[in-house]
Amino acid sequence: LTTLTDEALLALDTLAGRAAGLVNPSVRLGVTGLSRAGKTVFISSLVHNLLNGGRLPLFEAVRSGRVSKIRLEPQPDDAVPRFQYEDHIRALVADRVWPESTRAISQLRITLDYESASGWGRLFSPGRLSIDIVDYPGEWLLDLPLLSQDFRAFSETTVALARSGIRAELARDWLALSATVDPAADAQEATARSLSEAFTAYLRACKADERSLSTLPPGRFLMPGDLEGSPALTFAPLPGLPEGRLEKGSLAAMMERRYEAYKTHVVRPFFREHFARLDRQIVLIDALQAINRGPEAVRDLERALGDVLACFRSGTNGFLSSLVTRRIDRVVIAATKADHLHHESHPRLEAVTRRLVERAIERIGLSGAGIEVMALASVRATREATVKHDGHDLPVIVGTPMAGETIDGETFDGERKTAIFPGDLPEDPDSLFEDPESDSRHTLNFVRFRPPHIEETGGGLKLSVPHIRLDRALQYLIGDRLA
Ligand code: GDP
Repeated sequence: LTTLTDEALLALDTLAGRAAGLVNPSVRLGVTGLSRAGKTVFISSLVHNLLNGGRLPLFEAVRSGRVSKIRLEPQPDDAVPRFQYEDHIRALVADRVWPESTRAISQLRITLDYESASGWGRLFSPGRLSIDIVDYPGEWLLDLPLLSQDFRAFSETTVALARSGIRAELARDWLALSATVDPAADAQEATARSLSEAFTAYLRACKADERSLSTLPPGRFLMPGDLEGSPALTFAPLPGLPEGRLEKGSLAAMMERRYEAYKTHVVRPFFREHFARLDRQIVLIDALQAINRGPEAVRDLERALGDVLACFRSGTNGFLSSLVTRRIDRVVIAATKADHLHHESHPRLEAVTRRLVERAIERIGLSGAGIEVMALASVRATREATVKHDGHDLPVIVGTPMAGETIDGETFDGERKTAIFPGDLPEDPDSLFEDPESDSRHTLNFVRFRPPHIEETGGGLKLSVPHIRLDRALQYLIGDRLA
């Protein structure tokens, strides 16, 4: 678990944070979600809308005109990469391509000058709040449970899971290779490397599988960053570990040491330097993709969401409770890419998301306090229309499919617009979690659209990126800090 030094450092850090907060109040907003959930697009659009006077009617401080100035500022953490806002927004707005996705942690500070709504607060006006947006892969969160597992427990859990269900066939090569090595034999670098490669291939296969299995730790095996090839990433869980202490110099002991190094050099610093310092959190999920892939994918998303939520909220099963950050008091779970549906279906998308969250928190025995659920689109790539079909009005969405998208046998070039009927979500969200009889499975028409064309009006005035309900998320996440 966290060592005493971790606790001491955290306490010191909190004190330093409080002192700095008196001079320049700030709130650290974590943005996470599994790969491709929409983190990069979310942050880019949110910041663009704030900087360019976007439509944010539900964000009270801006709507009521209490915010006088919004600007980007250098972030306080010199050792963390900056979120490349300018590059991402150029891609989105000027080139109309989706920006490069999140691969590691990054950060951006945006500062708002505002006038307090209360008479008491106005005494100190003008108020100033810095929002430090911290973008990090959701996969990294799934590593936190490793802090409470030793190498033996990690090996047992991972091997048992790999032998069960549909994972068994994906793990065959790695397990077969593991069966040929003796954990008690002398440690050989070549053996460690081939085991680690086979294990990584298994993790990658799980991720690529279209049944959409949720990601398994260690998260950095699939997103190594600058640690690629280092010993801390060259290990694998071992089946059949000998009882008792692992013999010095043996393969098992070498793997154990590297597993501990992974925790020391990767997981613990992430926990201490980033995760434990967050105040607010938004978790983005691609519920539409899971719905389209079927009930197994929906249940798997529910499992992954449960694992993620366990990091924010202590539950009754308690294995993570000593790690759970005590700071994060508000969490938003948002289904992204709602612009793929007509707005008539948005309440149903929200209902599905709420059901996902309820089931996830039920399963791990959490409390749902301080968790808000919504459906949003960071960037609205479509507009809505109605077409007549067999004498009925059919709600459709209109957008520019990405080059190469094929709809009804027709391949698009990335320039031409088209209208599609996206389909309906079921009235009863529970039906999406159950395996349906025969072919009544729910599918949506899911087309990848290009980012929208954004008009530049004359006089250097830029229009902001269109979105759906970004302002509602913003209000819940930081509205109270601008009261
Ligand atoms: P990340 O891995 O979480 O950083 O994911 P990205 O932000 O890069 O998003 C992944 C992909 O999802 C993008 O390339 C887009 O194709 C799509 N996407 C994300 N947000 C939206 C959205 O609001 N609307 C639409 N139509 N597509 C989106």
